[in-house]
Amino acid sequence: MIRVPRNEASAKIVHAMVENEVAPLFIGQDPSHVRELHDRAVSRTVAPESKEQFLFAIAAVDAALWDLLGRAAGMPCHRLWGTQRDRVPAYAMVGWLNLNLDEIKANCERALRLGFHNMKLKVGSSTLEADVERVTAARAVLGKDAKLMVDANEAHTVDEALRRGRAFSELGCFWFEEPIAAHDFDGYAELVRRLPIPVAAGENLLGFDEIKDFVTRTGVRIVQPEYRRVGGPTAMMQIAEWVAQRDLSWCSHGGGPVNLNLLCALPNAAWFETGFGDGRHPHVEQGHALAPRGAGFAWEEPAPGSLSRSRLA
Ligand SMILES: [Mg+2]
Repeated sequence: MIRVPRNEASAKIVHAMVENEVAPLFIGQDPSHVRELHDRAVSRTVAPESKEQFLFAIAAVDAALWDLLGRAAGMPCHRLWGTQRDRVPAYAMVGWLNLNLDEIKANCERALRLGFHNMKLKVGSSTLEADVERVTAARAVLGKDAKLMVDANEAHTVDEALRRGRAFSELGCFWFEEPIAAHDFDGYAELVRRLPIPVAAGENLLGFDEIKDFVTRTGVRIVQPEYRRVGGPTAMMQIAEWVAQRDLSWCSHGGGPVNLNLLCALPNAAWFETGFGDGRHPHVEQGHALAPRGAGFAWEEPAPGSLSRSRLA
């Protein structure tokens, strides 16, 4: 697997992908055929080293089309798709690895004041002892009943993930996210077999096919697709249906209105992840994110009125 660095040049590549490879597939088409257009784009053959940027580009256009249709209808996308729930269990990401214990505690207190009950903390420090200190500091603020997820962002070998996962289980953590490299499917299968704590992963997998392959081969039961890395909201609909047929649950990777609209409409949605430092998060009540009320993928604004175009220009 080739991992392309995520930097400014990468964003420029995605932009070029949209302009040169993806937009031509959509221009002149009826935007209400978004699922057909999406599937046609995804079926195109692309070099492995360009796959991530290609899926990001499809996701950008796919999300824009759903946003357009929602705004034209004057309703949030979750209503357009058929709302399943008007609120979703939410958790706040409170602790990047560079934060010290006091900063972690302050973030936990602030998130509690905003209405969050449950939190996620980055782990994968240089020592297990440092990770334990972080978890213990957060737990002291949250209390024993809150769910505390931990996320290592692919930091460990399988052996080290087993050691740390057992410790996180004893500390009452709710799940252990991305303990090892995202594409080490055999390693994930071993962790699922041997760890007493649920393993969560999926944010770095590319496309519906890779999600299916990963879940089938590893037994991971908490799936976290990144909607841009799988090809957009339409791909998320396909993934959610597939996950639901297997009685698994899926969670958003990250926050934002696209993810929250998806979670409010699709089956077996479990958790909405969000930051909160910049104020760009939904209304939260008693640990739940409330469904967006803005048209399309807007957060809360009233519908701007219907759009007259029926063809893409
Ligand atoms: Mg993560």
